[in-house]
Amino acid sequence: MVVAVDGPAGAGKSSVCRELARRLGFAYLDTGAMYRATAWAVLQSGRQEASAEELAEVLKDFPLEFDIRDGSLRILWQGKDVAEDQLRTPQVTAWASRISQQKPVRDLLVHWQRRLAAQRDVVAEGRDMTTVVFPDASIKVFLTADLTARVRRRLGDYRKMGLDPDPDKLADEIRMRDEADAGRALAPLKPAPGAWVVDTSDLTFEEVVELLSKRVGS
Ligand code: C5P
Repeated sequence: MVVAVDGPAGAGKSSVCRELARRLGFAYLDTGAMYRATAWAVLQSGRQEASAEELAEVLKDFPLEFDIRDGSLRILWQGKDVAEDQLRTPQVTAWASRISQQKPVRDLLVHWQRRLAAQRDVVAEGRDMTTVVFPDASIKVFLTADLTARVRRRLGDYRKMGLDPDPDKLADEIRMRDEADAGRALAPLKPAPGAWVVDTSDLTFEEVVELLSKRVGS
């Protein structure tokens, strides 16, 4: 079974989906982390200026692998686990957004995502789970929130990492990333036909998790 959740940055997808997966006993598939890991790996390899064709070649033998362990995504680079905090820096965030517009990257990651979901039940979260990767998912949700709420949540995330970005700059960065995700040619972010749109601006984390759990159980 697949519970597929899409939505813009800061809508609360990650924390809600992680908890939802835990309650359901499903694995939590954070596909944003897969795009971040690919961006990080491309930066590590110094191939960030590669053209789409070069990137397709580079990705063929890329020592980047994904797996599920203890109900969560495991990311391996050259056979070793990649620490999550390396993938959350502003630089990797910006590159993930850029690189996710490249077809070879999307093809590779969609392949991995379907492969992982074939192994077990998942709550899969990202930008194209409901539209491209799992259009036949049992439950399709589009989780959104207004920009103010999303900036507030992202500020909280960054502060936990010891970073203190300027709120106005962060709002600009989120707005630009949303525009890039929604306006791109490949897998643009939008609610899929039949997706349930949930606005979380005025809801607590618990309320959102409850709402979704009830829907899955119904
Ligand atoms: O969700 P997160 O902010 O970690 O995602 C990082 C970037 O990866 C997003 O800005 C988006 O451009 C890209 N992404 C995507 N498709 C997904 C998940 C993430 O294009 N399914």
